[in-house]
Amino acid sequence: MLSVVPTPITVRVPAKVNLHLSVGDTREDGYHELVTVFQALSMTDEVTVHIADEPGIEVRGEGADSVPTGPSNLAWKAVRALAERCGRDPDEPGVRVSINKGIPVAGGMAGGSADAAAALLALNHLWRLEMGRDELAGIAADIGSDVPFALQGGTALGTGRGEQLIPVLARHTFHWVIALDRRGLETPGVFSELDRLREESRPNRVGEVEPVLEALASGDPRQLALLLGNDLQAAAVSLRPGLRRTLRAGVQAGALAGIVSGSGPTCAFLCTDADAAVRVAAELSGAGVCRTVRVAQGPVPGARLVTDDRAD
Ligand code: ATP
Repeated sequence: MLSVVPTPITVRVPAKVNLHLSVGDTREDGYHELVTVFQALSMTDEVTVHIADEPGIEVRGEGADSVPTGPSNLAWKAVRALAERCGRDPDEPGVRVSINKGIPVAGGMAGGSADAAAALLALNHLWRLEMGRDELAGIAADIGSDVPFALQGGTALGTGRGEQLIPVLARHTFHWVIALDRRGLETPGVFSELDRLREESRPNRVGEVEPVLEALASGDPRQLALLLGNDLQAAAVSLRPGLRRTLRAGVQAGALAGIVSGSGPTCAFLCTDADAAVRVAAELSGAGVCRTVRVAQGPVPGARLVTDDRAD
């Protein structure tokens, strides 16, 4: 029988926010050309893999009801992709994946991609494959555009579909308040809405990415706040007009700036420091404009074994 680790392996993996998201033209493969700056935040999912009689997937935690447990779950796609690459069968012996969601589902924070990245890393250990991060990143890119970043974490410049990454220097920790909406938004619908808006009129586009990289290197949240930008924001707001009110309420509560995260509907508010973030979160949760509010920091590391945390 092939070698497996007999005990469960757990990986913790972060959500992302896009500090800058420039959406270019549609490519021949149907994807849009992106230039983006990702930052990994301290909101995480935990993915555990172990050997069990019944292979498959189970999901618990926030929004678990709306996450598929069949072959369309991105974590299971990751299991299949890794199995194919190394010629193993996830049904023999059976691989069981348990996901504990802390990242909002369909919230524009790449929770599904995060689970795929975590499953790759966890299974790499369970099956004793000893693949390096670069090799895993190659498989990750085939699963989805945001999967390589969830493996890498930190702050990174993404190009192509967002899967070609260069790490970016971010001095200091940035403090965020995250406003979760009552319902999710499906990413493809938000891209289609942007295409529609662009045919109809000429919505503003975000500026160049270089000043964003300079602000990150300076570590000054005030400088960064002036430069946050997301081409998908107009489309997300068009589909969910209430987001305008949420964005206004966060700034009125004392945030430096607010932005729709990725394809939304989650909004992320940059604050001056940790105390300010707590104050903004308290005021925003009283404003009744969103389902719930969280405080988060970034950048944080990408997917990592929970046992590694204990070793630190
Ligand atoms: P992104 O920002 O990468 O576009 P998102 O954060 O908006 O994604 P996800 O939480 O990744 O959204 O989920 C999008 C859809 O993918 C969900 O509606 C869900 O049906 C499906 N999905 C598949 N696998 C997962 C998973 N492991 N966790 C969450 N959703 C998943």
